Amino acid sequence: MVDYEFTGTLTAEDTKRYVPFAFDLPAGTEEIHIDFQFEPRQVGELSNTLALSLYAPDDVFRGFCHGPSNHKQLDIGVHEASDGFFAGALPPGVWTVEIETYMVLPGDPVDFRLQVQLRDNGARDAGGEPSVVSSAARNGTGWYRGDLHTHTRHSDGELSVSALLEMVRHAGFDFVALTDHNNTTQLADRAAQECSDLVIVPGMELTTYYGHALSLGVSDWFDWRVGRNGRQLRDVVNEVHARDALFVIAHPAAVGDPMCTGCKWLFGQFMPGGVDAVEVWNGPWASPDSRNEETLQLWYAWLNSGRRLPATAGTDVHDARAYEGHPCFNWVYASELSAHGLVEGIRSGHVLLSNGPRLWIGMPRPDGSIAMMGDAVTTTDHVAIFTLAWEGAPADGVLRLVADGDVRRTWSAEVEGARTVELMVHRWVVAEMRNVAGDVVAITNPIYLDKGLHL
Ligand SMILES: [Zn+2]
Ligand SMILES: [Zn+2]
Repeated sequence: MVDYEFTGTLTAEDTKRYVPFAFDLPAGTEEIHIDFQFEPRQVGELSNTLALSLYAPDDVFRGFCHGPSNHKQLDIGVHEASDGFFAGALPPGVWTVEIETYMVLPGDPVDFRLQVQLRDNGARDAGGEPSVVSSAARNGTGWYRGDLHTHTRHSDGELSVSALLEMVRHAGFDFVALTDHNNTTQLADRAAQECSDLVIVPGMELTTYYGHALSLGVSDWFDWRVGRNGRQLRDVVNEVHARDALFVIAHPAAVGDPMCTGCKWLFGQFMPGGVDAVEVWNGPWASPDSRNEETLQLWYAWLNSGRRLPATAGTDVHDARAYEGHPCFNWVYASELSAHGLVEGIRSGHVLLSNGPRLWIGMPRPDGSIAMMGDAVTTTDHVAIFTLAWEGAPADGVLRLVADGDVRRTWSAEVEGARTVELMVHRWVVAEMRNVAGDVVAITNPIYLDKGLHL
């Protein structure tokens, strides 16, 4: 039985819109079945990209479906739900299923059919709200390794949460952020709930039409629909900040429309004030889609403008291939191995980005203590002394010291070593390690020099 059917046609003019359809859900409904199809999926090499969200009465988020398929079949029940959707009580009233038009390509219009079936088997108590992950603190101050950007079947990834966690374990990581697109159901997945040997940093990837960003350190779902009802990106950032979580711009220089819709950061009015960090390393360093080298230069320009913006790394894993070879990861210096400790470590910029080697930069302060990456040092001297140390450099690897946006020193790096360098610096210093092909294999966050200048 089909209770509701909505059909329509979308053209390129409809790209980046929110297209809602309301339906009435009577009391006693135990399951919602949604069947959504559209044609054509492909236009040449490119794909029309339509996502689907479900909202209970009062705009309460219940799930998001972002897979590449042009035929989506979803079940949302009191006790079980398809990946990407929350099971639980189905309150009666007006529900909304919304088509989100990430990309409708020029050419043939797209015809869609959306069917909603409501099944009534005598509703039972849902047993309360879905619980969310809380990662207990386990260890003291130290450096911890992990991935801050992942996808599972709860959005467009191929892996179950369980399979992803197994790969993360295998990589020897201590933590992983579960950041499905516009979703938080991954955090309620049984595998995440029952995981006790890895710290899970709760989050989501806010996948807007004009750029992607990670919320890290909070299990709340944030309404990513910038432009709807006057919603601004700043509103989203403020909501993330109100929960003491991080707002991290993801892969800002990535290839954008129409290959990867919304992947490039186009919030020009927001470059990048008010955000907490930027993902400088997304996937393999040399990925032509992520364009990490361009992001690195963008980040350096932001640092030159006076921003103090920590850099992060994330595999952006969508399938098992992302963990073959040497995936990138974050080495975070945290006060404890917990989601909160890691978030605060990232906020402080105490993060090395690497796919294996260790690289450390320090600067002695006048009081004898050593500033580390992410720290600011107050000084009136124009010449500063830095200490570098490293391990695990690749054959024919190169070390570079970048200050105020310019490469100021380059050495060939033996497997491990240490150096002391005197350098004239005004604002910031970063150490890079690159392999023989020129790809970054490790990069520090900056040490900032505070000369009392007002920018
Ligand atoms: Zn993304
Ligand atoms: Zn992603």
